[in-house]
Amino acid sequence: MTAKRPQPRPGVLDIAPYVPGKSTAPGVAKVFKLSSNESPLGPSPRAVDAYKTVGLHLEDYPDGSATDLRDAIARAYGLDPSRIICGAGSDDLINLIARGYLQDGDEAVYSRHGFLMYPIAITGCGAKPVVAEEKDLTADVDSILSKVTPKTKIVFLANPNNPTGTYLPFNEVKRLHAGLPPDVLLVLDAAYAEYVRRNDYEAGIELVATSENVLMLRTFSKIHGLAALRLGWFYAPAHICDALNRIRGPFNVSAPASAAGIAAIGDSGHIERSIAFNGEWLAWVTKELAKLGLKVTPSVANFILIHFPDTPGKGAAEADEFLTKRGLVMRRVKAYHLPNALRMSIGTEEANRLVVAALKEFLGKAA
Ligand SMILES: *Cc1c(COP(=O)(O)O)cnc(C)c1O
Repeated sequence: MTAKRPQPRPGVLDIAPYVPGKSTAPGVAKVFKLSSNESPLGPSPRAVDAYKTVGLHLEDYPDGSATDLRDAIARAYGLDPSRIICGAGSDDLINLIARGYLQDGDEAVYSRHGFLMYPIAITGCGAKPVVAEEKDLTADVDSILSKVTPKTKIVFLANPNNPTGTYLPFNEVKRLHAGLPPDVLLVLDAAYAEYVRRNDYEAGIELVATSENVLMLRTFSKIHGLAALRLGWFYAPAHICDALNRIRGPFNVSAPASAAGIAAIGDSGHIERSIAFNGEWLAWVTKELAKLGLKVTPSVANFILIHFPDTPGKGAAEADEFLTKRGLVMRRVKAYHLPNALRMSIGTEEANRLVVAALKEFLGKAA
């Protein structure tokens, strides 16, 4: 114990820092970054133009309430703009929500393989992250409800979840909501909603609109291909927006990000192309890896979780090394309690084909 120097609040030094996906492969000429679920098609060209235009006026503060961006989002989804809050990526907003609703001694529940930003934000507020076990790498409503105590203030659910790619159908999300006490906030993180092609899926707009304790979180980092700009938003009941607007950074969305976001959300052609591209290649990669005898968790998002055999030398660590040497950079998911799996973002056609060929070679199933 070092006495005479500033000490962070209890719990902060117990947090394992978030480790972003690798972006380099030393000594390799061409690197395919498949480690952070970024869009292989990139952003809409209109978003890039809007970004550049605002870049000519960097001396001006942005509009602190991101009015034009909230209006654009509201138009696109048919929402009330006064119930939208934007931020510097979902991670900014996850921290904002935690800071607004958690204090020392509180608890917040998330699922076993849930997004790691949740326990980081929860612990950072002095609260206790409580883990609910999953079934078949999928969030389990009964398990989540069984973890709720009088100390529980928030339940975080990524739907679809990262890194598993699995999802809960809307009837299960409704059952989860119905089982929660009305003073527990249910945060539905729908970062990958646009990719989901399932009739029984809903991102959560209806639940937010019809209750006082549900918040839906979205991002511009995935389908809109704007991860570098840091842009996210949520839709929440008025009383939650009122509380969180009081403590958010007054200029937490930069002007270039806002302009790019408005252009991106208006380019439905680009969104459609990105969705179609993902649908095609998600299916292709899943099928080809299955042919190699690899187990792939069925994903509805823009990435897959690949499970490796227990055979010595054929595990996830060795596969990661083998792929990295070929410039194919994936995400190890040990920190998500998945030691023998790799998460792969669906990449360009070239990247996807190279991964399948490389894994074929790795497994000794030479062409
Ligand atoms: C990628 C991702 C986000 C988006 O994070 P940003 O901070 O907006 O880039 C949010 N939630 C989950 C589960 C994700 O995987």
